[in-house]
Amino acid sequence: MNNVTSIDDLKSQIANNYQQVKERIAEACLRVHRSPEEVTLVVVTKGHSVERIRCAIELGLNRFGENYVEEGSEKIEAIGQPKGIEWHMIGHIQSRKAEMVVQYFDVVHSLDSLKVARRLERFATQKSKIVPVLLECNVSGEESKFGFFASDPNAWDDLLPDFIEIAQLPHLEIRGLMTMAPFYENPEHTRPVFRKLVELQGYLRTRLPEVCWDELSMGMSSDFEVAIEEGATIVRIGQAILGERPVSLGV
Ligand SMILES: *Cc1c(COP(=O)(O)O)cnc(C)c1O
Repeated sequence: MNNVTSIDDLKSQIANNYQQVKERIAEACLRVHRSPEEVTLVVVTKGHSVERIRCAIELGLNRFGENYVEEGSEKIEAIGQPKGIEWHMIGHIQSRKAEMVVQYFDVVHSLDSLKVARRLERFATQKSKIVPVLLECNVSGEESKFGFFASDPNAWDDLLPDFIEIAQLPHLEIRGLMTMAPFYENPEHTRPVFRKLVELQGYLRTRLPEVCWDELSMGMSSDFEVAIEEGATIVRIGQAILGERPVSLGV
């Protein structure tokens, strides 16, 4: 529980957490001879108040991730879109919410079907926007996870027709891949999942070399160090920075 009594306490708590996460990112990078500059931090704000997000902004954090279009857009409205702040959609998108995603979000991590891609394209065209997207892939095979089903490398060829069509949509710009590992007590157990996403990236670079596959959005509070060791370029961290979520969201 967060026994927060004032905004100053809240801010110093978030500042401490952020400092610790930064150090852990740097140490993970050091272990595999990467530069911390190669790793972008997205602070996941789902379930957290606007007040808490404002504190994070005041501390210089500038990329935020939300899972739900409605919750996210309300907070974005409340915060008033200050300059230099990016909002990342990281949760499953229902087709009928595609227009709001294009309206409010700067990057989509959770593109998981051709159908949603076509919807995003339609609204991006209307709004004359280019939307950077990551293709969410379910490489663990866990049934509860969203994403293009990609747990069997022998079936990766089957992904190509959809990926080719998405790559050809003029208002979507593929930047890479996203995945979520299952939760394990021991984060070491997530390593094969992240490794498989890197293999899929290598496969796609060979098969669709004209598309950019550079970004790998993988790693959350419980497993970001392993993800960085395996090549994550974007980590999505909520609880380790903002504290425990006040309400439990079934995600
Ligand atoms: C909630 C969530 C995160 C962050 O989880 P934490 O445990 O709070 O770090 C990252 N990615 C996705 C897709 C999420 O839903």
